[in-house]
Amino acid sequence: MRIAILGAGVTGLTAASILTQEGVHVEVFEAQSQIGGIAKSFDLWGAKVEFGPKFFDLTYFPEIIHELEGLLSSDEYIRYERNTQIYSDGILSAYPPRPLNLIRQLGPSGSIKAGIDLIKHRLFSKENPEKNVSAYVSSKIGGYLFEKYFRSYSEKIWGCPCEEINSHYAKLLIGFNDSYFNKIKQVFSSQKGKGTTSYFFPDAGMGVIWDRLGERITTNGGIFHLGIPLKKIVYDDSGITINPGSPEGGKFDQIISTIPNIFLLKALGMTGAELKRHFAGQRFRNLILAYFKAEVGNAMPQHCLYLYDKTIKGVRLSNFTNFTKTKKTSDGKDILVMEYWLDDNDELWTSSSEEIIVRQLKQDLNHIAGLKEIKPEAFHFHSIKNAYPIPDIKYLDRLAHIEALVNDIPHIKTVGRNSSNAFNFGMDTAMASGIQVAQEILQKDYSRA
Ligand SMILES: Cc1cc2nc3c(=O)[nH]c(=O)nc-3n(C[C@H](O)[C@H](O)[C@H](O)COP(=O)(O)OP(=O)(O)OC[C@H]3O[C@@H](n4cnc5c(N)ncnc54)[C@H](O)[C@@H]3O)c2cc1C
Repeated sequence: MRIAILGAGVTGLTAASILTQEGVHVEVFEAQSQIGGIAKSFDLWGAKVEFGPKFFDLTYFPEIIHELEGLLSSDEYIRYERNTQIYSDGILSAYPPRPLNLIRQLGPSGSIKAGIDLIKHRLFSKENPEKNVSAYVSSKIGGYLFEKYFRSYSEKIWGCPCEEINSHYAKLLIGFNDSYFNKIKQVFSSQKGKGTTSYFFPDAGMGVIWDRLGERITTNGGIFHLGIPLKKIVYDDSGITINPGSPEGGKFDQIISTIPNIFLLKALGMTGAELKRHFAGQRFRNLILAYFKAEVGNAMPQHCLYLYDKTIKGVRLSNFTNFTKTKKTSDGKDILVMEYWLDDNDELWTSSSEEIIVRQLKQDLNHIAGLKEIKPEAFHFHSIKNAYPIPDIKYLDRLAHIEALVNDIPHIKTVGRNSSNAFNFGMDTAMASGIQVAQEILQKDYSRA
């Protein structure tokens, strides 16, 4: 059996690794010249920093640990406790929000107000919780807490009112579909406030994991075609041909696609007008990652600050130096990154001048108590177009429509962050989906034999 994998991100690499270990012929087609997708690392000011993900959580999918085994020796990575906080109205509090922490912040009168409001919502609200994020979260924690702790950040991230955001977002992100038992457990465990040691970070950056996985795939006979974007897929009696006529193409029995569905459908011959119709209404948020170096000292001990405050345009500030001791610039400074989530027409996105981003960044730092003294010295920017699909009210319907379209195509399986179009799809989920699709293919092949 010959398998083509489209995309050498975490999902594609994991699937390729499992299939090649079982002796399957695998060829990976990747548009970029480097593997790793969003989870690549890059060199900046003498240190390795992350293009995207920083938190690799090993809690939820035990099966990924087996795949990671042997890739790094124990002195090449650390396991650490996550230290992340919310910054709102000049106050720092735990992130993810912890109920007891919230109660302490609200004080006696605020807590009573929140409690009465919660009972009112539970007993008397006639609003359908599935209507939108506002209705859903209010039905779970009451309107008072929703307004105080949930609305501003969600609206900053998505650039639209919570009434226009799908309730699915809250369910996935916050886990409000947990049982009440778990919620109660969460309240009591929050006393400890110690985070978790389940996070994993390689000294040489996340990218080293995927580079090593790439080496394992090559050793097991897998072939990489780097800098080769998928252009065309043709079906005929002899199988499926990728990029026909190109020396970097070939015939395959099965395709695993981890690239955006829109590129897959285009390669299958769908016209621009058809694509426009099928994807109509889907809006995205673009991302600008503004890296800078600075003397931080003890001003920011956290890995990340989640900036709920509406007076700050950035949504998350991360300090790479706090992830591992080696992440200092060659002149001994900290490296940080501020994330800006932007609409197509936002000035920060449309402007060709980096000066505007620098000005915004300095203004934002100036609004964060404790970080006012930080003086950014050098800058580096990454723009990610269409980084996150906005989970608006029609989001799930559109997703189901596209899933039905791609599921109808024989011998093509779509997996990973791009095919699921999900906003909270982590590296752990990406690996788990790569494992699942590889196992499905192996089982099918064995049953045929
Ligand atoms: C800013 C940011 C922060 C994040 N933070 C975290 C975090 O802290 N923790 C966490 O677990 N996850 C995080 N994530 C999510 C995580 O990075 C992704 O879920 C994971 O890396 C997705 O892997 P993937 O292989 O599914 O997709 P991708 O990484 O997108 O891989 C798809 C690959 O397909 C290639 N491709 C695209 N089009 C074509 C084409 N036409 N032909 C051939 N190849 C093509 C791309 O170049 C890419 O290499 C973050 C994501 C972002 C954007």
